Amino acid sequence: MPPVLDSATREALAARLRFYRDLGLTDFYRRSVDPALAAQLASAAAPSLTSGPAPQANERAELRANFIGEVSAIPARKSSSAPSATTGPVSAADRTAALQAIQEDIGDCRRCALHAGRHTIVFGQGDPNARLMFVGEGPGADEDAQGVPFVGRAGQLLNNMIAAMGLQREKVYIANVVKCRPPSNRTPEPGEATTCLPFLMRQIDVIRPQVIVALGATAATYLLGQRQPLASLRGRIHAVHGSSLIVTYHPAYLLRDPRQKKEAWADLQIAMRELGLRAPARS
Ligand code: URA
Repeated sequence: MPPVLDSATREALAARLRFYRDLGLTDFYRRSVDPALAAQLASAAAPSLTSGPAPQANERAELRANFIGEVSAIPARKSSSAPSATTGPVSAADRTAALQAIQEDIGDCRRCALHAGRHTIVFGQGDPNARLMFVGEGPGADEDAQGVPFVGRAGQLLNNMIAAMGLQREKVYIANVVKCRPPSNRTPEPGEATTCLPFLMRQIDVIRPQVIVALGATAATYLLGQRQPLASLRGRIHAVHGSSLIVTYHPAYLLRDPRQKKEAWADLQIAMRELGLRAPARS
């Protein structure tokens, strides 16, 4: 009998399949499963049918991960001797406080003209110990209203991209080049971007992610400190403040031109390889 998956796993699988379908990947096969593992999984999913104790949630997650080849957490951070632009590496225990200190330095920021039109400063969101960080351009209307990056339509697509990598949004960190919404969602002016950029770089120095994914040309330009066509920056690994930087399309662009999702997926696979994450099996 096929294993019964809980609703959260079913929803995660459905989201991943939708994203693959968007990428044009439609042919899937089922890997053959070790019968002993399948029996273990079945008992994990239906504890009431067994006489022994129900597996703990983490055991069930591990069984699911083994069964469907899912990687739901990024492996432990590798030690890095990369120099930091700030006062030195921040220990894992101090990262939350260090991010809080940056947020306090930003305060009720009026350093550039963007403050006039914003409702909320969108600082960033995610795991202070994340090994993977996404950087976008700047908040849109939804983000400005909620104070959280990537919560609108582009955010939904980013969520799907993260899920397709086998990761959870809460385990990565997401931020933008500018923390206040530009009027009518225009591209930030260079003066606005360079005024805000030091705060993003401080966030990077605190989190020290192994990999940063720049979403779109604005993020790539300001993280790399040089303006080049996106096409010439994709497909290779750049270095920024001790992190590997991978450049891909902005999700808002992918919503406008979904044919490019396949290219974006190739970029995300570079990030996955850097992180030591297993790429999903090809059909
Ligand atoms: N676009 C971005 O670049 N950032 C967000 O937070 C939302 C949309």
